[in-house]
Amino acid sequence: MNLYQISLALVVLFNFFLAIFVLSRNVKARVNRAFCLYSSFLTAWGTGMLALSLVPEGQKEIALWCVPILHLGLVFLPSSFFHFVLAITKDENKFNRRVCRLAYLFSVFFLISDRLGLFVLTSDVTFVFGSYRIVRGPSAPFFNLFFLFLGPYGTYLLYRASQAVTSPLEKNRYKYLFSGMVVSLFFAMTNIVRVMGVKVSPLGHIGILFLNFMTALAIVRYRLMDINIIIRPGLVYTTLTAFVTTLWLSGGFFFETLLDFQTLFARIMTIIIIVFLFNIIRERIQLMVDKIFYREKYELFHLQEKVTSEIAAGYDPDILVPSVLKEIEAALHPRFISAMLLSSDRRCYFARYLIGEGEKQAILPADDPLVKWLVREKREIFSEEPEENPEFNGFRKGVKEGFEKIMAKLVVPLIYGYELTGIFNLGKKKGEGYYTYNEIAFLNTIAKELALTLENTRLYADLKERTAELEKANAAKSDFLNVVSHELKTPLTVILSQVGLFKQEVFGKISEKQTESLKKIEDKGFKLRSLVADILNMSRLESGKVYDLKIKEVRIERIFEEIVESFKLLADNRGIKIEIDLSSEIPPILSDPGKIKNILSKLLDNAVKFTPSGGIIIIGAKEADKDVEFFVSDTGIGIREEDQKRIFERFFQVDASSTRKYGGTGLGLTVASELVKAMGGKIWVESRLREGSKFIFTIPTK
Ligand code: ADP
Repeated sequence: MNLYQISLALVVLFNFFLAIFVLSRNVKARVNRAFCLYSSFLTAWGTGMLALSLVPEGQKEIALWCVPILHLGLVFLPSSFFHFVLAITKDENKFNRRVCRLAYLFSVFFLISDRLGLFVLTSDVTFVFGSYRIVRGPSAPFFNLFFLFLGPYGTYLLYRASQAVTSPLEKNRYKYLFSGMVVSLFFAMTNIVRVMGVKVSPLGHIGILFLNFMTALAIVRYRLMDINIIIRPGLVYTTLTAFVTTLWLSGGFFFETLLDFQTLFARIMTIIIIVFLFNIIRERIQLMVDKIFYREKYELFHLQEKVTSEIAAGYDPDILVPSVLKEIEAALHPRFISAMLLSSDRRCYFARYLIGEGEKQAILPADDPLVKWLVREKREIFSEEPEENPEFNGFRKGVKEGFEKIMAKLVVPLIYGYELTGIFNLGKKKGEGYYTYNEIAFLNTIAKELALTLENTRLYADLKERTAELEKANAAKSDFLNVVSHELKTPLTVILSQVGLFKQEVFGKISEKQTESLKKIEDKGFKLRSLVADILNMSRLESGKVYDLKIKEVRIERIFEEIVESFKLLADNRGIKIEIDLSSEIPPILSDPGKIKNILSKLLDNAVKFTPSGGIIIIGAKEADKDVEFFVSDTGIGIREEDQKRIFERFFQVDASSTRKYGGTGLGLTVASELVKAMGGKIWVESRLREGSKFIFTIPTK
C-alpha cells in the first residue's frame, strides 16, 4: 500500500464513522440526516476509488467492478451536498427546494444513463501512476457544470446564512464550515496543479476528509446538548506538528520535483527545524486554536468570573438577582428568564424576578413532580427530556405538566444543601438556537453560587432579627433587675436604720445578748445592701449609663486604714492576717475615693473568702508613671490561667456548681473592673493555682 492508498482508506473509514456518528446523535434532526446522506455518498465514492487503486496492473475486469460504487457516490455528491446546505441553513425558499429536487433528478439521470451506456460519465479505466483510474466519458463536462453550479451556489447560501445569524455560537458553527472549506480547497489545489503539469500527488481526498471533519464538528457542537466534543489545544498542536512532519518526511511524495531532499539526513534536519519553529510560535497557534474552537467557552468563562464576583459582593437580593439575570440574558438570549424563589410559607415557587416575555404569575407548588425531580437529580432539565429520557418513566406526565405550568424550556435548580431554594426558569432561545453544553455548565455554576449567597443573606437577616429580639429581652431583664433592686433597697435602708436606733438604745436599754443579735442582723443587712448595690450597678452598666465620678482629694493611706479596719473582724475570725504595704509615701491624688474604696473592698472580700486560715493578705499601692498602682495579694487557692480572663465576666465563678464552697454572685469583679475603667484605669490578675493571687489595678493621677 502506498501513501495515496493509505490516505484514501483513512478518508473512507473516517467518513463512514462520521456518517454513523452524527446520525446516531440525533436521528430526528434534519441536519444530521442530510449530513449522513452526504457523508455516505462520499464514503461510497472513496470506497470505489480505494478499491480501484488496489487492483494490480492487468486485472482490468476487476477494476471495472469497482467503478459502479465509485460512480454511485460521485453522481450524488453535488445534490446531497446542496441538500445538506439547505438543511443546515434551514432554508425554506421554494426556489432552492426545487433546485435541490432537480439536482437529485440530475444525479439519478447521470447514474442511469451511465449504467445504460447512453451518456456515460466513466467510460473506461486505465492504469496510470501505478494504479487504475477512471477515464471520463462525454457526459463528464456536463457533470462538471452541474458540480460547478451547485458547489458555489451552496457556498453562497451558507455565506448568506452566516451573515444573518447573531448568536456567537451559530457564528462559530459557520466558522467551522468555512475553515474546513478553505483547508480542503488548499488540498484540492494539488489536484488542479497536477492537471496543469506539475508532478504532485493528488491530495484532494484528504481535503474532503478535513472538510467533513469540520462539518461534523459544526453539527455536533450545534447540538452540543447531545454531545460535547473537546479538542484540546495541545492535541491540535500535536496533530499539526505530526502532520507537517509526515509530509516532510515523505518529502518526495508531496513536492515530487519542486523540492528534492534526497538524503534522509536532510529530511530529519528539516523536521527538527520545523518542530523547533513550531515550538516558537506554539503559543500563537494555541491562541489561534483557542479563538477558533473555544470562543464560546472563553467568553462564558470570563462572564462567569464577572458574575460570580458580583454574587460574592452582593447582599441585597433585589439588586443582585436581577443583575445576574440580565447578564445571563445578554449571553444566552433566552426569550425570558426568571428566578423562581421559594415563598416564605414554603408552599410554592413563584417568579420573584423576571426578565423578558415570561409569565409573571407563574407558580409551581412545592410538591410538584418537577420540583421533586429537580431535588432528586440536582441538575438542569429540558422540556423535551421527559419524552426522550427513559428515566422519566412514570413521572413523564407530571414533569411535563410542571414545564407547562411555568412555560419553561430549561430549568436549572438553585440548591442549597438538600433544599431547593429556587429555580432558574429559561424560555426558548431567541431564534432557533439550542442551549449548549458550555452554557448549561455556566448556568449551573451561577445557580450554585447564587443559591449559597441567597441562603447566606437569609441567614444574616434571620440573625439580625433574632439579635434584635435578644437585645430586647436583655433590656427587659435589666429593667426588671433595676426595679427589683430599687424595691429591695428602700425597705433594707429602713431596716438598717431601725436596727441602728435600737443599738443606740433610743428605745430604751438593751441587754448584751440583744446587742449581739442586733449586730448579726446589721452585718447581714450590710451584706445584703452591698449585693443589691452590685445588682444595681450591673443593670445600670447594661443600660449603658456611665458612672458619674465624685472627684476629691484622695489620701491613700487613710483609705487603706479604714478598709483594713472594716475587714479586721472577719479576717481575725478566719485566722488571716492583713498587712498594708506602702513602700514609698504617695502624695494625695485627685480621684473618686468612694469608688476606689469600693474596688478595694471587693478585692479584699474575695481575698478573705478564697484564702484558708493562716494566710496573709497584703494591700498596697505605689506610684507608676502617671498612675497609681493598687494591689491586693493573697496566699489563697489561686486561679487557673484559663480562668484568669473570664473571672471579670458577668456572673462568672470558677466553681459554679450547686455544691460550691464559697458564696457570692459572680458580680464583684465585673463591677470592680467597670469602676476601674470608668476612672480611666486598668485591672488584671496574676495568679498561680494553690499559691495565691494578686489583683492589680491602676488609677490615673492626672
Ligand atoms: P464572687 O461573688 O463569686 O466572688 P467575683 O466576680 O468577685 O464573684 O469573682 C469571680 C470568681 O473569681 C470567684 O467566684 C472566684 O472563683 C474567682 N476569684 C476572685 N478572686 C479570687 C481570689 N482572690 N482567689 C481565688 N479566686 C478568686
